[in-house]
Amino acid sequence: MSKYIDQIKKLVELQGIDSEMIKLKNRLVEAPKHLEELQASLESVDEQISHVKERLDLLTQQKKKLGQDIEDDSNKVKKSKNKLMMVNNTKEYHAMMREMDNLEKLNRFREDEMTNLIEDIQVHQEKMEELTSQRKSVNEELAISQSTLDSEMEDINKRIRVLEKNRKKACADVPVPILARYNFIKDRLNNPVIVSVRRGICTGCYISIPPQSFIEIQKGEQILSCPNCQRLIFWEEHFNNQDND
Ligand SMILES: [Zn+2]
Repeated sequence: MSKYIDQIKKLVELQGIDSEMIKLKNRLVEAPKHLEELQASLESVDEQISHVKERLDLLTQQKKKLGQDIEDDSNKVKKSKNKLMMVNNTKEYHAMMREMDNLEKLNRFREDEMTNLIEDIQVHQEKMEELTSQRKSVNEELAISQSTLDSEMEDINKRIRVLEKNRKKACADVPVPILARYNFIKDRLNNPVIVSVRRGICTGCYISIPPQSFIEIQKGEQILSCPNCQRLIFWEEHFNNQDND
């Protein structure tokens, strides 16, 4: 019985190492994901910034051209007004008046367009400010996340190296055929490999152990597998009793 208990204890120890190893290796995969998300969000902000900038450049160009057109035509109107004094031909006078009128109408229309352009530019400038501050905060978070990740990864890798050494030691203590059985299950089933039986139920698959197997397991003579999930099983009470000794 004590040899049996000893073997189970070593397997449970091995299980503890493997469980921690699995958790750490998952963390190695999961940890960089937040950083990748931040990088993606930075790229998306940059894309929006370049889009808004393009639009702002275009609007600014339009504003400049429109301002020039307004100025040119209002100069034309001023010149015409001066010339008007010197015209004595009625037909020519009316033609000039009509032209001035058209230019003034055109400029009034342009002034409205200018108002819209200025509003549009303002909206885009506000959007740009918002995106720029968003970019700054994502960038800061990225820098923090990067340095935390680097140190976390380093710690995990250190711990994994310790566990690998511990695992070798723990394996050396387990008889070869039992270790082979453990590794066989480890490669084929989800963790854990060895589980306790509590109140007649396998804590790996939560299904009742058949009475015959339950009688066998209580004898504590050989390492049994759960008939349902195939995990190695031991009777919890054996260890409760040991603790009381
Ligand atoms: Zn089971």
